Amino acid sequence: MQVPIEQLLGLPGIQVLNAEITEHEIKCDIESTRGYSICHQCGQKATRFLEHGETLTLRHLPICEKDVSLSPKTKRYRRLDCYGRPTTTERCGWYDADAKCAKAFAEFLLRALVNSTISDVSLNYHVPCDRVRSVLSRYVKGEVDRNQFGHLRQIGLDEISLLKGHGDFVTNVSTRDDQEKPLVLAVFEDRKKETIAAFLNSIPEQLRATIEEVCTDLYEGFINAAEEVLPQAKVLGDRFRVAKLYRAAFDDLRKKEMKETGSAFQPLSPHLVGFKWLRSFRTLMAQDIGGGHGDSQRTTF
Ligand SMILES: [Zn+2]
Repeated sequence: MQVPIEQLLGLPGIQVLNAEITEHEIKCDIESTRGYSICHQCGQKATRFLEHGETLTLRHLPICEKDVSLSPKTKRYRRLDCYGRPTTTERCGWYDADAKCAKAFAEFLLRALVNSTISDVSLNYHVPCDRVRSVLSRYVKGEVDRNQFGHLRQIGLDEISLLKGHGDFVTNVSTRDDQEKPLVLAVFEDRKKETIAAFLNSIPEQLRATIEEVCTDLYEGFINAAEEVLPQAKVLGDRFRVAKLYRAAFDDLRKKEMKETGSAFQPLSPHLVGFKWLRSFRTLMAQDIGGGHGDSQRTTF
């Protein structure tokens, strides 16, 4: 069975006119099959095709690790019923012409930025730093239409570092749709507790009540905001961050124990030393996450 390339691209109302597949890249010339634009004068459908407009160049989600670049030939339509019979270039909802990418790719970049930096994302996905920054700034303070959600079972609060080793952070608020696909709800230009709390409070009460889980890194401001505004929701630590902190705690403890027992290279029994700090670490973790109340939450190694 042959799968049409349109299906792989997963975009509504387009047809691929030509595709060029190289080792690292897929380039497609495409055009819209919708058949109208929205008249800039009256907001109604303009259906009389007049001519082709400019050809855009847009990045889209990678396929099989190949960068995907789409070149839609825009179409201009005239609305005959409108005064002066104005023409309007068709713009499709799936792309952001100013950000030069499909909206799915913009959201992909935003997700890639979680716990990462602009320079890393730029390098990994072959997008110029300026472009990543522009996608981010377009989404900063931007919020999606909440009316499209019947429920918000799970939301994520993640920080994005603007520069490597730099103290500037923005906050990415995300959720998952009914198909478990991650969606960006909002991006804020700081990571203050007040900002996040205000956002959570601005979600209509009925919709807010449907939030069961908040996944967040271990930043106190996020946790406090979530606990304050969403008392019904379970706050879950970000796995990546938790693992990193556990490793750091593990390492600190190992160093401390080594200091107490002398050089790591001259112990009476290296196995015994290892055993000791492993045990201490387990005790620490049990106290830390189990709170000393039973074994149910204890981490086992
Ligand atoms: Zn009109």
